[in-house]
Formats: sequence, C-alpha cells, structure tokens
Amino acid sequence: MGKCKGLLFVFSTVFTLLLASCQQIAEDVNTNDGQSLEAEEDVKSGSHEDGGDADGEDPDPAAGTSDEEEKVEGEPTPSYTLNENNWSLEPIDDSPEEAVLITIDDTPDEYGPEMAETLHDLGVTAIFFVNHHFINDEKGEEQLLEIMDYGHEIGNHTMSHPNLQEISKKEVEEEIVLLNDEVERITGERPTFFRAPHGANTKRSWEVLEDEGMLGMNWTYGFDWEEEYTDAEALAEVMVETEYLGNGANILMHDREWTNKALKDIIEGLVDEGYEFIEPSEIKLEKVSE
Ligand SMILES: [Zn+2]
Repeated sequence: MGKCKGLLFVFSTVFTLLLASCQQIAEDVNTNDGQSLEAEEDVKSGSHEDGGDADGEDPDPAAGTSDEEEKVEGEPTPSYTLNENNWSLEPIDDSPEEAVLITIDDTPDEYGPEMAETLHDLGVTAIFFVNHHFINDEKGEEQLLEIMDYGHEIGNHTMSHPNLQEISKKEVEEEIVLLNDEVERITGERPTFFRAPHGANTKRSWEVLEDEGMLGMNWTYGFDWEEEYTDAEALAEVMVETEYLGNGANILMHDREWTNKALKDIIEGLVDEGYEFIEPSEIKLEKVSE
C-alpha cells in the first residue's frame, strides 16, 4: 500500500465512523420524540378516564369548585357553580353569597310573557323552562320569542312533560334532543339548561345532557303547586318567609295565575330580605372542570 492509498483508507474509515455515529444520534432523537409523544397520550387518556369515572358516580362537590377554569376570551367568567347535591348555587371567588336564582317552569302557557315582563322591569333575569306543547303553534312561538326579548334564558323542560323514569331510553333522548332542536329552530339558540319534570332524572337523561353539553338542575324550594298556596297573597308570603330561603336558593315557580299575580311581591320581598339575583349566564355550565 502506497502512502496516498493509506491516507485515503484512514480518511474513509474516519468518515464512515462519523457518518454512522451521526445516524445513531438521529435515531436517538427520533426515539425520544416517540417516547415523549406516547407519554403525552398517556396523560390525556388518564384524565379522560378520570372524567369518565366521575360521571358514573355521585358527583364530587369539590370537583365542581376546582380552581382550574378555562378562560375563553369574549365570554363572561362564571360567577356561580351549581351544587349538584342540593341544587343551590354557590359563589365563585368573591361573587355575592346572598343571591338567588329565579326559574319559571311549564311555560309559556298563559302568563309566561307577562311574568317575563314583570321580572325584566324589576331587573331580574330568570330561566324559563319550556315544554313543546306550549310552543307548537304560532301563539306559542311568539310567546317564546317575547320571553327571550325580555332577556331571559330559555331552558329545556322536555317535549311533553313525562316522568322520564317511566319511559324508554330512546324516548328520554327524544324528549330532550327534539325540544332543543325546536327551540333552536324558533329562537336560533340551543338551550343549555335542563330541568326534568318532577325532578326525576335517569342515567340516560344525564348521558343525553352530557352529549348536548347541558347543565341539569332541580330546585331548592317552591310552593305554587300546593293547594294552600294557589292564592297570590299566601304564596307571596311563604316564598319570602320560608326557612328554605337562603344563600344560593334555586327558586321554582310556575306559569300560573296566582304566581303571576304574586310575582312582583315575591321579588320585592326577596330584595327586602337582602338578596340579589343570579343571572343564568353567570352559572358555570361544566359539571367537572379538568
Ligand atoms: Zn314541570
């Protein structure tokens, strides 16, 4: 071997070794990327599983008040969270404790628009939980739009007001989803709040609500369906003097003659007792924050 060929051999050997080690480094980098991607997926599926487990169990009250809130620009930050053990509203951070939510069910029957106007004039925004048999004609559609025009929130109270525990899973789904479709067709907005007739939910109704991105709620107190409170004066009195009135009360009333008549007195009575009114848009919709 001549000097020249010897040097060439040395150079090419060094070059080959260098090339090989570069390839090894490149492979290591790819492997690391692969590992970190996998790790990321594990984290995601872990939190997903946690969410799934929580849904099957009784809701954890602490989960609903987690500090980890996603703040979306342009949307108001929620000020109240729904306590799913007793259906009261709890303040987030420094929102006023002495506040109540007003809800009107089985509407718009006869008095919905008038009740919507009364509340509006008193500076109160309520959730009106509607049924399909009240909005399935021109008059009903107009009443629905009128309630919305007064700034109130339209909630879903099912198509036909059945006891969800006495119908099939398929029917439960239809009772909720078809009414959302109808309200959206008429108003352009899909309801985000749901109240089951008689407060009777089922496993299937909670699943449908989750699929629809809705918040289901019962109530903390109400009296206007009891015989002795079908009188405006008696109703106005009990609604304010009851021991059930307290911070975060989720107050249930109906589209009824005596409730319509008592409504102004009830609201003024609540104000006299020192309560403010929770806006539906202030309520946090997520059941569990991740
Ligand atoms: Zn009802």
